[in-house]
Amino acid sequence: MRALVIGAGISGVTSAYFLSQNNIDVTLVESRRYPAMATSYANGGQLSASNAEAWNSWYNVKTGLNSFFSSSHSSVIVNPTPSVRKLLWFFKFIQNIKNSETITFNICKMAVKSIKLYDEIAKRESLEFNKLDKGIIHLYMNEKHTENAEHINKIYNKAGLKRFQITHEELYKLEPALKNKKLNSIFYTPSDKSGDIHKFCRDLTEKMIKKGKLKLLNYNVDNLKELSEQYDLIIICAGVYSRFLAKTIGDYLNIYPVKGYSITINNPGYNTPTVSLLDDFKKIVTSRLGNDRLRVAGFAEFNGYNLDIIQSRIRPLIKWCTEMFPNINTNDIKPWAGLRPMTPNMLPIVKKSKNNSKVWYNTGHGHLGWTLSAYTAKEIVDKIIKSY
Ligand SMILES: Cc1cc2nc3c(=O)[nH]c(=O)nc-3n(C[C@H](O)[C@H](O)[C@H](O)COP(=O)(O)OP(=O)(O)OC[C@H]3O[C@@H](n4cnc5c(N)ncnc54)[C@H](O)[C@@H]3O)c2cc1C
Repeated sequence: MRALVIGAGISGVTSAYFLSQNNIDVTLVESRRYPAMATSYANGGQLSASNAEAWNSWYNVKTGLNSFFSSSHSSVIVNPTPSVRKLLWFFKFIQNIKNSETITFNICKMAVKSIKLYDEIAKRESLEFNKLDKGIIHLYMNEKHTENAEHINKIYNKAGLKRFQITHEELYKLEPALKNKKLNSIFYTPSDKSGDIHKFCRDLTEKMIKKGKLKLLNYNVDNLKELSEQYDLIIICAGVYSRFLAKTIGDYLNIYPVKGYSITINNPGYNTPTVSLLDDFKKIVTSRLGNDRLRVAGFAEFNGYNLDIIQSRIRPLIKWCTEMFPNINTNDIKPWAGLRPMTPNMLPIVKKSKNNSKVWYNTGHGHLGWTLSAYTAKEIVDKIIKSY
């Protein structure tokens, strides 16, 4: 079978990997010069089943609407200029608020399995991507958020995730950099992990190429019709651009680009965190990538395909770090912005095309693409193998 995977981000690289594990010859095509240069470049780094909570809530809708008037303190920012696509997406997003608990449950279940798969892949292929097995700590700042955390925890537990509340003393032991911080509540998930998505994609791609299991091509695919004459199977993993490729064969994918920002702090110094953190109120995550780098990420901005790195989003990330860790060295910072390929029900699209029997989709992983991709890649390859 001649298989083509379009897009060498995390969803494409893992899809190519599971195809190659089934002894299928794979070609991976990427429009950028190297793999993982788009959204899979500098994300929050968390492999986090504990961040499976669906974004579909009236609280988030309200936060987005408030950002029309003032965006300076908001974690969700919506550009008020209307567009049909944006409105359709939000309409579906709101329709799914009633399903948010089921969505959370389903994402959490997938994430738990996915994280186990990453462990297996990392071990089997001896991958180096600054994987850290220290769990993830969630920080909750007020009573209302703690109540929600307790509720969500019941769903997580049902989905097979062990996340539990810890005391301040336990927090200080786990993460001494947070010593003396007073929070409303703290939850800990020992099985969650963190790591560098870019290094993972690069290392796995290189290893597959070296073993003769993968061919990497470098061009932009603009039409699926011709390619489906050359290949027996095509998997679309093109992130926020997947919908344009789908359109060339008459498929419709409701994926909106939701922009986020990160800073990578080089040599952050002493009294800075090693355990991966999530501040639930500010929606900021951190991951330690080796001794020398601290990644800090946040914001959900609905502003089309714009990739400008806006300083008024970067500054709050730096401010958060200096408030939480007053001794942090912020001399050397690399800012970045990326677009989450977001579906309105938060669930990735893992299915066959309606219009072309050779084309499949593994895309739309939204805010949890690093966490979920190993699972959905295995799922799509299992489905493909069954159907051929
Ligand atoms: C600020 C931020 C923080 C995040 N933090 C986390 C986190 O902590 N944990 C987590 O699980 N997830 C996180 N995410 C989400 C995660 O990074 C994404 O879901 C994931 O990277 C998407 O991967 P992808 O492979 O679908 O898309 P991409 O990484 O964008 O890959 C798609 C690839 O397809 C290529 N391509 C597109 N069109 C074509 C074409 N026509 N021809 C050829 N190639 C094409 C692109 O160049 C690109 O390389 C975060 C995202 C952001 C923005």
